[in-house]
Order: sequence, then structure tokens, then C-alpha cells
Amino acid sequence: MKTEIIKFKGNEKDKKYLDKIKKTFEKGGLVVFPTETVYGLGGNGLDANACKKIYEAKGRPSDNPLILHIAENSQIDELVLEIPDVAKKCMEKFWPGPLTMIFKRSDIVPDAVTGGLDTVAIREPSHKIANKILKAVHLPIAAPSANISGRPSPTKIEHVLEDLDGRVDIVVDGGKSVVGIESTVLDVTVDPPMILRPGKITLEDLQKISPDITIDQSTIDATNKKVPKSPGQKYKHYAPRAEAICFGGNIDKMVLEIQKNIDENKDKKVAVLASTETIDEYKNCDLKINLGSREHLEEVASNLFDALRHCDDEGVDLILAEGFEPIGLGLSIMNRLLKACSGRIVMRI
Ligand code: AMP
Ligand code: MG
Repeated sequence: MKTEIIKFKGNEKDKKYLDKIKKTFEKGGLVVFPTETVYGLGGNGLDANACKKIYEAKGRPSDNPLILHIAENSQIDELVLEIPDVAKKCMEKFWPGPLTMIFKRSDIVPDAVTGGLDTVAIREPSHKIANKILKAVHLPIAAPSANISGRPSPTKIEHVLEDLDGRVDIVVDGGKSVVGIESTVLDVTVDPPMILRPGKITLEDLQKISPDITIDQSTIDATNKKVPKSPGQKYKHYAPRAEAICFGGNIDKMVLEIQKNIDENKDKKVAVLASTETIDEYKNCDLKINLGSREHLEEVASNLFDALRHCDDEGVDLILAEGFEPIGLGLSIMNRLLKACSGRIVMRI
């Protein structure tokens, strides 16, 4: 199929674009649209066939459920059996925004969305274009990240086209995704609620709503062999083609260790993913990418997936990535980095 690229202009033409997108969703087609976290690959979440097409386009395993995206809180009512008090508080505080919650699902949610689970994941994005589209369509839109399964999630339209050109009907260009990593997933069907995937909304943010909220340890501990509670977390993810190793611990020792690895791999094309504070320390590597400042982890989160894809574009063999303190947003960054590195982390305390 030929993929059409649409860019909203902020004038009367937008109405025509919105109508086209709405019709595409209604007839079971696929539309990629920008959100504040990463680009989403959308299809009508009440249409099992459209959902099947999403899995096909991504090459996603069918037991990895999809997140439904809505424009207004009231749309949740027909999708879930109950809304626990803690979820109501989170909706008030964090929606629209990068928080997904898992609810007990109602009968109208197809098995194709939930991978057969009796729960459903729902989010209300804050991105202006996403919201405009979701309002116009007024359907829950199933939208996983718009990448081929296993690859780093897309934060720019170039990433989307690299993976999905010719596999979807429409791609909406919305510039760079500001948050850059996927939403926090919070399971509110258990008591106390549990974070199944860390994201921009941190454990600390959520504990201000309810101090007993916990986090699934397998999302942050590379040595933990337990099966993660969220199906998507068990798959290889965010993986660049190059071999990748993450380094942690004391920053000075980490820099020395990375330099040692650069020196020991002169026969390979080596890239270092570093922070603003340390990037100038590295000598004789083929590519250095500044992820951003350790003082502004939002920058690091926003740049991470683009950096991993850039290494692939440059034909890098080995990626040496600095680690970050696993607190707040640092924990979400480490969750993605560890997956990109297939769990390989070198610690020098
Ligand atoms: P993606 O849309 O690509 O960001 O991936 C969605 C994530 O949400 C995956 O990690 C899924 O496993 C997780 N997810 C979606 N629905 C559920 C559910 N009902 N229960 C647990 N995790 C879910
Ligand atoms: Mg994904």
C-alpha cells in the first residue's frame, strides 16, 4: 500500500485531513500519529480486524496487548468494569499525559486488544495533534509504538517511515516526541497498585497520590529472572542492531571503564552514549552521542531512542552506554537501556 504523509497546517485544510483520518479508522485502516511519549500505530480499538492489522504491521507477538487511547475521561466508562478510587485520583492528576492504567475490561473490548487478558490498558495522551485526532474520531484507538517489534520506539517521523512505510495508510507528522520514552504503565486492578513499566510519571510522582504504590522489580533488575507481569516487558525491546553494553556505578570509574573498552575494541566501529558532563573525556571512538545532562534527565529520555537508531544508521558494531542513577526518571531510562543492552551491565562501584 502507499502510505500518505499528512502534516497539519493550522488552517482550514486541517478539517479535510481530520475527516480523512476519521474515515480511515472507521473502515479499519491504520494511522500513525504523534503522541508526547513516542509515535503510535493506531487502529480502531473496537474492531478486532483493525487490531490484527496492527500486530501484522509491527510483527508484534499476539499475546502482547495494546493500549487504548481516548480523548476524554468519560470515554473510559464503557471500556472498564470499575474505576478504583486511586485510578480516579491519577486520572485527575496525570491525564491527559504519559500514564497508562490497567483496568478490568468490559465485554466491548475485543480479545485482539488485550491478548485474551481480562484487563485492558487505557491512556489519554496530552499531545495536541493526538488529542485533536482522538476527539474527531471519538473511538478508543489501539496504538502501540509505531515501530517494528523489538526495534527502538520512534520519536520522529523518519523513524516511523524507516519501519512502517508501505505498511500503514497514513502517517501524521508531528515533529519530535518530547518525552521520548513510552508511558508509565500502572496496574490499578491490584491492591496496592503496581507499576509494570516505568516512564515519565515516576514511582515518586505516583506515591504522592498513594504512598503504597509499588513497582514490578523485574522491570529494573537485570539479574531478576522472574517473568514480568506486563507481557510486553518479557520481549527483547528497544534493540539496536549493534551489540550494546551499559556501564554503571561511580561516574569517574565508569568513564575509565568505558575508555578501556574503547581501547580494547579498536577493530570495531564503537559508539559511546554519554552525558553532557562526561562526553569530552572519551578519546579515539568512532562516534560520540550526547544524550543530555545528568541534571536534566528529561533530555536524556527524549534523546535515547534517536541515539540508538542513529548508531544503526552509522553501521556501529559496539555501543558503550553510560548508565544513570536509577531514581525518578533515571529508573525509566535504565529500564530502556538495560533492554537495549539485553541486560548486559558492567558496574564499577
Ligand atoms: P506499547 O504500546 O508498544 O508501548 O506497549 C504496551 C505495553 O503495555 C506493553 O508492555 C504491554 O505488555 C502493556 N500492556 C498493555 N495491556 C496490558 C494489560 N492488560 N496488562 C498488562 N500489561 C499491558
Ligand atoms: Mg512498543
